Amino acid sequence: MSDQSTSSSSTEETLANLLKEDRRFEPPAELAANANVTADAYTRAASDREGFWAEQAERLTWDTRWDRVLDWDNPPFAKWYVGGRLNAAYNCVDRHVEAGRGDKVAIHWVGEPEGETRDLTYADLQREVSKAANALTELGVGTGDRVAIYMPMIPEAIVTMLACARLGAPHTVVFGGFSADALASRIDDCQAKVVVTADGGYRRGTPSALKPAVDEARTKTDKIEKVLVVRRTGQDLGDDGWDDSVDVWWHDAVDGASDQHTPEAFDSEHPLYVMYTSGTTGKPKGILHTTGGYLTGAAYTHHAVFDLKPDTDVYWCTADIGWVTGHSYIVYGPLANGVTQVLYEGTPDSPEPGRWWKIIQDYKVTLFYTAPTAIRSFMKQGHDVPDKYDMSSLRILGSVGEPINPEAYVWYRHVIGGDRTPVVDTWWQTETGAVMISPLPGVTAGKPGSAMTAIPGIEADVVDDEGNPVPNGSGGYLVVTSPWPSMLRTIWGDDKRYADTYWSRFAKQGYYFAGDGAKKDDDGDIWVLGRVDDVMNVSGHRLSTTEIESALVSHPKVAESAVVGASDPDTGQAVVAYVILRNEAGDGGPDIVKELSDHVRTQIGPIAKPRQIMVVPELPKTRSGKIMRRLLRDVAEGRTVGDTQTLADASIMDLISASQATTT
Ligand code: ATP
Ligand code: MG
Repeated sequence: MSDQSTSSSSTEETLANLLKEDRRFEPPAELAANANVTADAYTRAASDREGFWAEQAERLTWDTRWDRVLDWDNPPFAKWYVGGRLNAAYNCVDRHVEAGRGDKVAIHWVGEPEGETRDLTYADLQREVSKAANALTELGVGTGDRVAIYMPMIPEAIVTMLACARLGAPHTVVFGGFSADALASRIDDCQAKVVVTADGGYRRGTPSALKPAVDEARTKTDKIEKVLVVRRTGQDLGDDGWDDSVDVWWHDAVDGASDQHTPEAFDSEHPLYVMYTSGTTGKPKGILHTTGGYLTGAAYTHHAVFDLKPDTDVYWCTADIGWVTGHSYIVYGPLANGVTQVLYEGTPDSPEPGRWWKIIQDYKVTLFYTAPTAIRSFMKQGHDVPDKYDMSSLRILGSVGEPINPEAYVWYRHVIGGDRTPVVDTWWQTETGAVMISPLPGVTAGKPGSAMTAIPGIEADVVDDEGNPVPNGSGGYLVVTSPWPSMLRTIWGDDKRYADTYWSRFAKQGYYFAGDGAKKDDDGDIWVLGRVDDVMNVSGHRLSTTEIESALVSHPKVAESAVVGASDPDTGQAVVAYVILRNEAGDGGPDIVKELSDHVRTQIGPIAKPRQIMVVPELPKTRSGKIMRRLLRDVAEGRTVGDTQTLADASIMDLISASQATTT
């Protein structure tokens, strides 16, 4: 038996067994020579943080300047750019038109049905947002009222978000794939009085209805006064599918509204939106973001991390607007910076597996931002599909959402980026509002699997149980050590939960506790190792799920894997691994389990060897593509599977439970 009492408290031991990753990718010389942000920014920001953030806020157009950069007199409640006033929609739209860039394309929209496209210039966007703001006002939306948005990836979704921002009416976007229950509970939580939706959207080639879920949500909450409906698919809403006292068509209310609307300036701390977290670790939290600091953070990071050149770049982020990534890196950051971007409605592989790569080729996309889960699913298909497309326009690739396994990083850089493009592995959260830890593409020599260091202006560290920084080569808890402009202000309606969740763990030091485990390598670079809740304790050794998963993914037959710690009578916890094989590996052969087990043993060490390995067809993921390990832990420990509300496909749990039954 292990001596868990001593070793579980020793975070130094965490990941002494880290993967030996010695590949390095220097920034391309030309990119480095012309980079937006250079190495001196780190020292400049560190020597005068508030001065640095004041400079970044100058990216925005303020109606009234702030008189104090940061008010941290009442932690953990921050105020940024105190006394400043601005309008977020004006900053994302009108000011570009006023600067003579009205004819520039803001959005190249690509519908899922092939050939269905629409381009909106900044001038178009200004007219549409003004009309929508006027229509929402007609429907009774005033400053401070909440509006729920439950829409497919169509331009009207962005128009609605900006119209809300223009009115100072915080939006809450609920992912279009969520159920009526999930929608109703979010509407109830933030008391949204208007819902903007569509009849449906396209998913994998077929129209998928949305409006019926809103109707059902109305039976579960009495908050909804009006429902504004975009006709997208034209599908039949049925006899009971329309209520004249509540439902209004977009083409009736918005199309006829005036395209003139004067934006009002709001306080820098005026609420901009409430976004619920993905729910990977439990019940989603309603994260509140406000205006001036958030928009500054989104605009600055988009400029810095993507080395954005607004005159020449074509940017594409594949996230859904139902996630924070869609908020900060489709809507607020890119539009505040005046880019041209692609917005794609559908699934990556519809109607054919190369759809994404075709879009990159057609629009000559230069900056591309996606998630490890997508990259791994393309790895599973092999490189033949992407190899058919010309993606030589790409110059930077981004990753967000989960740790990117070194093998997935190298595949992404090689197969998609033609070995030219830096990969920026961006660590951040709904709560942080913007990227916190990431390479800078013109500065950093990238290491596959490492998010590297906090970007200029952000101060992060890895600390032990007592809140002391761990030495290089050790692991612990990821913390942010000083407030930042785009930080969450609270959990909607629950200041206490806000203080408890993020600020009580390291209250003495006043650090923000992110809930993720991380390690510093010998150079002091940060590797995010997954959720603190997911760290395993095997015979007193603390093992990270991410490391073992990355070891499995480095085996040529494996596309994806998820690892959990299941209680074990001998070792406290034991490693249980679920793997998805690459297509070309077939069923993996008769010795697949032994092969993979030996592979983990040689890659990490005998302690990490899984007690059990299961080949499965799919993994349980949240709708934002994150693996829900807590459900796999339930299966591995023979419990009833817990809350699956934010799971993308609940039937996957039955498949996995069935595989479990046949292999044990
Ligand atoms: P909940 O908080 O409800 O459990 P969630 O944490 O999945 O949901 P998000 O805010 O969407 O909700 O995700 C943030 C988390 O995603 C981070 O805390 C981290 O665990 C993970 N993450 C995001 N980007 C990266 C990255 N580049 N590397 C490693 N982990 C990442
Ligand atoms: Mg979280």
